[in-house]
Amino acid sequence: MITSTDILIIGGGLAGLVSSLELARAGHTVTLVERKTYPFHKVCGEYISNEVRPYLETLGLSLNALGVALIDQFWLSAPSGRLLKSPLDLGGFGVSRYTLDQTLYELAQAAGVNFLLGRQVDNVAFDGHQFSVTLNDGQQLTSQVVLGAYGKRARLDKTLSRSFMDKPSPYVGVKYHIRPQSSDWDFPDNVIALHNFSDGYCGMSAIEDGKYCLCYLTTRDNLRQHGSIPAMEQAVLGQNPYLKTVFERADFLYDKPEVINEISFAPKRAVENHILMAGDSAGLITPLCGNGMAMAIHGARLVSQVTDAFLQGKVSRPELEQQYQQMWSRQFARRLWVGRTVQRLFGSRWLTDLVVQTLQHAQPAVKTIMKQTHGQVIPV
Ligand SMILES: Cc1cc2nc3c(=O)[nH]c(=O)nc-3n(C[C@H](O)[C@H](O)[C@H](O)COP(=O)(O)OP(=O)(O)OC[C@H]3O[C@@H](n4cnc5c(N)ncnc54)[C@H](O)[C@@H]3O)c2cc1C
Repeated sequence: MITSTDILIIGGGLAGLVSSLELARAGHTVTLVERKTYPFHKVCGEYISNEVRPYLETLGLSLNALGVALIDQFWLSAPSGRLLKSPLDLGGFGVSRYTLDQTLYELAQAAGVNFLLGRQVDNVAFDGHQFSVTLNDGQQLTSQVVLGAYGKRARLDKTLSRSFMDKPSPYVGVKYHIRPQSSDWDFPDNVIALHNFSDGYCGMSAIEDGKYCLCYLTTRDNLRQHGSIPAMEQAVLGQNPYLKTVFERADFLYDKPEVINEISFAPKRAVENHILMAGDSAGLITPLCGNGMAMAIHGARLVSQVTDAFLQGKVSRPELEQQYQQMWSRQFARRLWVGRTVQRLFGSRWLTDLVVQTLQHAQPAVKTIMKQTHGQVIPV
């Protein structure tokens, strides 16, 4: 039997969950397909910019009740141990994706979103009027609008012949939750730290329940050269004295790390085959900006507003697609470009050391870079 829905959302990360909640509350029938089942861990640094804090609270999320860590300081270390400390103008908070996504899922369920969990979208076809969506178990659905919120890179991108899939991406992401072992832990819980090492950088910040998230980005070559994640961590990450201390003084709470490959920062299109892309499916900002989640949440709000206008008959489909593409570029394209540019300054041992040394004497430049990669607080 073919099921029909107003909106079908592919992927239930932040972009998918927030847009499902907005659109269900606006009175539309929403079906969300998510490959996994909640709650689950995800490779992500789990530091969220305050840009989205008031907006998340209006959605019904009580961040205090989740026990988020409040973060207002930034540390940047070079592989040599040279350290820059700077206050954060806007700041943010730390919360695990395990908790955040589960809470949004519960809110969306309560709002009437129909979830198809543990299944994935294999194909999407558009006949000029409506979409036919095929799941991996053969089920077919039709819908008026499809939102692509399926993250950085998926098999579906290949099926849709998206151009960035032609280029392999060298990046690997690794994440742990850790807990300080003893009182000689030197990392305050109001700090987001970015510790650099050869061919990569590692973000660390507190989350709920006295835990910290430790998440790094490196290259496949770096990993290949050392044979395994523990060997690479010891030989390369451990050269940064701050990371060495973390590995020595924390309990690692997962049996094994969460790992993802093929992370692409290449420019993408926000509308592809008439699908409206949101979150990382529309473009992933380099993680050192600590802003991808805020962008996914903000993007979800934008895509919900234009989709609602379309379903109410206020705009035609060509207008919907054009307006959304323009809105998305205006809001996010420059940040992605700055993020890619800044990332080039990190990775090489001597260059990172030089950058940290220079920024130590030019604090206003740190604030300028942060401003360029962050947006305004979303008005509510
Ligand atoms: C190493 C690293 C560190 C980061 N650190 C930070 C940070 O500290 N702060 C920050 O703000 N951002 C950070 N980011 C970025 C942030 O994680 C993303 O921008 C954010 O998760 C995007 O949310 P999303 O909803 O677009 O995608 P996701 O959260 O990735 O959700 C996509 C979902 O789609 C599902 N899916 C995929 N394919 C299908 C399919 N075919 N059918 C059904 N479901 C499917 C997946 O299972 C997934 O749950 C980091 C990214 C990386 C790589």
